[in-house]
Amino acid sequence: MTNYTNFKIETDADGIALITWDMPEKSMNVFTQEVMEELNAIVDQTTADTAVKGVVFTSGKSSFSGGADLSMIKSMFTFQQEEKKKDPDNAAQKLFDLVGRMTGLFRKLETSGKPWVSAINGTCMGGAFELSLACHGRVASNSKSVKIALPEVKVGIFPGAGGTQRVPRLTNAQDALQMMTTGSSLTAVRAKALGLVHEVVDADKLVDAAKAMIKNGLKPVQPWDEKGYKAPGGGIWTPASAQLWPAASGILRRETYGNYPGAIAILKCVYEGLQVPFDTALKIEQRYFTEILQTTEAFSMIRSLFVSMQELGKGARRPAGVPKSEFKHVGVVGAGFMGASIAYVTAAAGIAVTLIDRDMEAAEKGKAHSEGLVKDSVGKGRLTKEEGEALLSRITPSADYNDLKSAGLVVEAVFEDRQVKKDVIEKVEAVIGEDTIFASNTSTLPITGLAKNSKRPGQFIGIHFFSPVEKMMLTEVILGKESGDRALATALDYVAAIKKTPIVVNDTRGFYVNRCVFRYIHEAYDMLIEGVPPAMIENAAKMAGMPVGPLSLNDEVAIDLSQKILKATVADLGEKAVDPKHLALINKLVDELDRRGRKNGKGFYEYPAKPAKKYLWPELKTLYPQKNADTIDVEVLKQRFLATIALEAARTMEEGIVTDPREADVGSILGFGFAPYTGGTLSYIDGMGVKAFVTMCEKLAKDYGDHFKPTALLKEMAERGETFYGRFDPYGEKKQAA
Ligand code: NAD
Repeated sequence: MTNYTNFKIETDADGIALITWDMPEKSMNVFTQEVMEELNAIVDQTTADTAVKGVVFTSGKSSFSGGADLSMIKSMFTFQQEEKKKDPDNAAQKLFDLVGRMTGLFRKLETSGKPWVSAINGTCMGGAFELSLACHGRVASNSKSVKIALPEVKVGIFPGAGGTQRVPRLTNAQDALQMMTTGSSLTAVRAKALGLVHEVVDADKLVDAAKAMIKNGLKPVQPWDEKGYKAPGGGIWTPASAQLWPAASGILRRETYGNYPGAIAILKCVYEGLQVPFDTALKIEQRYFTEILQTTEAFSMIRSLFVSMQELGKGARRPAGVPKSEFKHVGVVGAGFMGASIAYVTAAAGIAVTLIDRDMEAAEKGKAHSEGLVKDSVGKGRLTKEEGEALLSRITPSADYNDLKSAGLVVEAVFEDRQVKKDVIEKVEAVIGEDTIFASNTSTLPITGLAKNSKRPGQFIGIHFFSPVEKMMLTEVILGKESGDRALATALDYVAAIKKTPIVVNDTRGFYVNRCVFRYIHEAYDMLIEGVPPAMIENAAKMAGMPVGPLSLNDEVAIDLSQKILKATVADLGEKAVDPKHLALINKLVDELDRRGRKNGKGFYEYPAKPAKKYLWPELKTLYPQKNADTIDVEVLKQRFLATIALEAARTMEEGIVTDPREADVGSILGFGFAPYTGGTLSYIDGMGVKAFVTMCEKLAKDYGDHFKPTALLKEMAERGETFYGRFDPYGEKKQAA
């Protein structure tokens, strides 16, 4: 047999070829051009070889495969852009042919006349599951690490290598749609219950079970290639379908407001595909896939949520030449709301934590937070009892700073008070080693100022977490004026160790995320004051793609915190720095009405006892004369929310606070859920074109205030026809990205 770089083939005495996918120098198998070519050759070879009776396909890694590789996805976009320039008339046809290659390869395997069985030993995502679906048999290991998913919709596309056709031919249309439009993952057992895998066995029996399927006479013909095949549930023209389909498009609209072309295409592929023979159905899928790949949404989402997120996660901003830090011991000072959670995520990453507070009782209370989380996870089967115990044993509560001696990194999360922080910095620095890095989790105090209390400002940095720390994937790493390369590298290594995505931001009031978030909330204040009905404000924001309405978000953040920040801004920058109408609104809510947000059960919303749901505070409507909703253009409300945030992001680039457009984009989606279909704040601007954005902002400025005025940089970029990704090219090349 020929030798392959990415695959090993061993044929046993029964004539069953075991193909093991094991890419050299990669921790996970992914589809690359080379993998596709080799797989194609393997299909030809095993089909032609009469000694081969059947094929078992598995992975040599701990996971099966993560699906398509970055380089492959990127190449589709470059191809498309280049072809559009070279040969615009035929560009779409060429893209269509390109996207059909994987479909064609899987179909060839499926109709090769030899039985193929996929032996799924771990995570099996995207294209890898589509390959498995083309196999005649699928056996999965019952290990916890098996996660089966078609997650493409999360990056703006959809399963385009037969997934939308094979899944609804194996399971009912409702479950198929659910799986593909949410991109959620299935356990092996759930996949079997849905009919998507045939057998679930112990990990060490996987290959034997797969081989046994072949020996027991597995037919090398898919159900849909048999005469008289009918889709589960009877296809489209049944009473059940008449119930499903109108609801399905309604539900999708409710969840996505029509903002995700990739998700809509899934419905179309399944609905249209189930009405025609299989090969025609594959063509339908191929056409929609070609169309979706050309959308701004797919381009921007893949760039931010796939490419950039991976690059930032792998340390794109990490200074070269600093050795990687291994964390054996991390100190957390302040065991309150944030510190307790920081200790948990650190211990969950296998790192020993000393959790310090003013006294032992407070430190232990901080650890109790982790005990609660562990109990919950063990109860839900996410952790074994032993794993839970090991995690907790890594957290040592203490009131003695001497216990921080051996820590390589100390994260401070005490009260947001300069004096308290100064004391803590001094106490910590009195005991820690020469090389230890000190990180503050402050949310409002500039790092450069705090570092003035440090003897080693070069080793002082900000690591700004978001609440709830356990769930939020983003952290902002804040560089003070004197923060050195080793501090940055250590902070980034730590963020990677706790499996979060970092963005690196220069020191400024509110850093990046909170600056943007408060623009969002302030726009809602403006709307309230204008008399826009509160429900319309919340709904317009969600229609624009924001996960949480601005009033609801302000309740979560706490309205008295907004008041504190507004007052601090006035104190530091003068009266003109805030809108007096905003301050009046917030002072009334907090000081007169004691409406502080969710924390005291009274904010923009009312919070009745569970299980009742929160609802907008009815009296809110009485604070300002209400406009007639029919006279308000909801499209303009949507624009205002996205534009005010995007403008703030553009300002942070102009001021040099954020320096890499990938960070502005990824930070906006992971930090506050900025309309993910746009690819983030700067992709939103680039996607419509800076010129169109400037024109839109000028109009908004005329109607709604100077805060919409485009900045000098934006105007210059509009004039020159530049994009953020071109002007601030993260790859250091001068050429325009798109
Ligand atoms: P918190 O009040 O819940 O916790 C602060 C803890 O620090 C308390 O347990 C307190 O006992 C302890 N503490 C105070 N003085 C101390 C001292 N001298 N030595 C040791 N411990 C001391 O506050 P929090 O919400 O956890 O905020 C902590 C920090 O995190 C603040 O700087 C805040 O700005 C920042 N932050 C908060 C959020 C958030 O959503 N709450 C988000 C990001 C950052």
